[in-house]
Amino acid sequence: MNKALFDFIGRCPTACHTAETAAQKLSEAGFTELCESAAWTLEAGKGYFVRRGSSSLIAFRAPREFSGFVIAAAHGDSPALKLREGATVGGGYTQLSVEPYGGMIFSSWFDRPLSVAGRVVIQTAEGVAVRLVDLSEPVAVIPNVAIHMNRSVNDGVKLNAAVDLPPLFGDGEAKTLGARVAERLGVSEDEILSSDLFVYNPQPGVEWNGYISAPRLDDLQCAFAALTAFLDAKKGGSAKVFALFDNEEVGSRTRQGAASTFLFDVLRRVCAAYGCDFDTRLAGSLMLSCDNAHAVHPNHPELADKTCAARMNGGVVIKYNANQQYATDALSAGLFKLICARAGVPVQSYANRADMPGGSTLGNISNAQVSLCTVDIGLAQLAMHSSFETAGASDTEYLFRAVYKSFPRAPFKKLLGGRSPYG
Ligand code: ZN
Repeated sequence: MNKALFDFIGRCPTACHTAETAAQKLSEAGFTELCESAAWTLEAGKGYFVRRGSSSLIAFRAPREFSGFVIAAAHGDSPALKLREGATVGGGYTQLSVEPYGGMIFSSWFDRPLSVAGRVVIQTAEGVAVRLVDLSEPVAVIPNVAIHMNRSVNDGVKLNAAVDLPPLFGDGEAKTLGARVAERLGVSEDEILSSDLFVYNPQPGVEWNGYISAPRLDDLQCAFAALTAFLDAKKGGSAKVFALFDNEEVGSRTRQGAASTFLFDVLRRVCAAYGCDFDTRLAGSLMLSCDNAHAVHPNHPELADKTCAARMNGGVVIKYNANQQYATDALSAGLFKLICARAGVPVQSYANRADMPGGSTLGNISNAQVSLCTVDIGLAQLAMHSSFETAGASDTEYLFRAVYKSFPRAPFKKLLGGRSPYG
């Protein structure tokens, strides 16, 4: 399963590519793409998906009768260097103009071959067209300063995004990045009107001694496991939904992020197309907000909580936070534990050290728009937001087995004896 994960990660250098790769897999499995700007006519049992902003995607399959949605959500974006227009030429070098997207670990981007991918808007006879591009080969490096010129480098170094991060692209004579991108797309450079391009790490993933190391494991490991489970799920039962959001790394408050109306709009339109009541279906729904969690660090075990630490290959992590940075509560955690027990999947609990604020994720942000019973889960990993992260080799399959598979037809009716989750 991890070989397929590495292939998926290789195809997903940016959130637009993640949505496109998911769309391709869904289309191959017979799902039909819907457009938000057209009316929807849905057939019971058939699969559909819809994209917003070309970087977020929601797929669903609904039987004629369903009492609620079972939603697995993950994010398709990762910290990276966003390219700005223009480049600096001087001193015999061409350097790209960049700024950080999300909470990157700067040092992990140094001294490794980097590539460029993203979305380009080109001018056409009819107007404009969006094209995805991935140069896939190395085109830039961010070089460290030699230790001879920075003797205190191993005592910790302060890195400045404006000074230290501009990647070296060429010798001042090299073809511009715009020309490289145009060449790859088979268009002329002046046909390119604008772009959302990112510098990314093209290194392939590797499996070693029970672990996996790859770029963008946060959150492509969860996105891959949830999507694969969605495609593998039996038809019928509850209405199954796979949601892939962009912009989690920058707070989700964008047109296509988890704080947008995207999920609400799709679920409401599904109910309208089926002629069923949205509010009652939502009250009977469950969301698994899937985003990776921190494993205990081998050299810094003191950073993990003594009682609520997660370890790699220990199974799916349930994330708790008293201040509700995670949406998990006793009910959603209890339901998820039961689901995992039925699937034979180990679960473990995670909370930050009580004196350390953690990150947030999709669950509670999405609940502001679509309020439903939600559990925040993920897979344990090291070096989150490094350009090359490490996780447990067994955990991808644990999440795959836990999502969608063991949900009964009407989760709350069967699991709660007919009562609604908060009733
Ligand atoms: Zn994440």
